[in-house]
Amino acid sequence: MHEFATAQKIVRTVVSVAMRNNAKVINEILLELGELTFVNPDQLKFVFKIAADKSIAKDAILNIVSKPGEIKCKDCGYEGGLKYEEDRPEFHSMAVLFTLDCPKCKSKNTEIIGGRELTIKNIKVV
Ligand SMILES: [Zn+2]
Repeated sequence: MHEFATAQKIVRTVVSVAMRNNAKVINEILLELGELTFVNPDQLKFVFKIAADKSIAKDAILNIVSKPGEIKCKDCGYEGGLKYEEDRPEFHSMAVLFTLDCPKCKSKNTEIIGGRELTIKNIKVV
């Protein structure tokens, strides 16, 4: 399961950072999650609890900031957001309903330039 492996990676990272800073407990984690990582934020929060069990991050609140995907078109030079199949915000987080076609010229000759990030921005420790 993609989300679980991701959660384990986050737990390992925050625990090692906290240990280096002599922290006893991790209270809060701020994570920046690119939508092209195809990680579902709600599922990630759920499995994070399981992955963090028995660690110093077990009671940490996981805050997730979603970062939209961005592409660059090699044909017309467009750089920016993706075209969504459905213009309904609740679908955006599902990350499966968009195309990587250029919204301007419809070319498929595009390159992903943003939205693949999974970055721990901040952790709060005691
Ligand atoms: Zn284009």
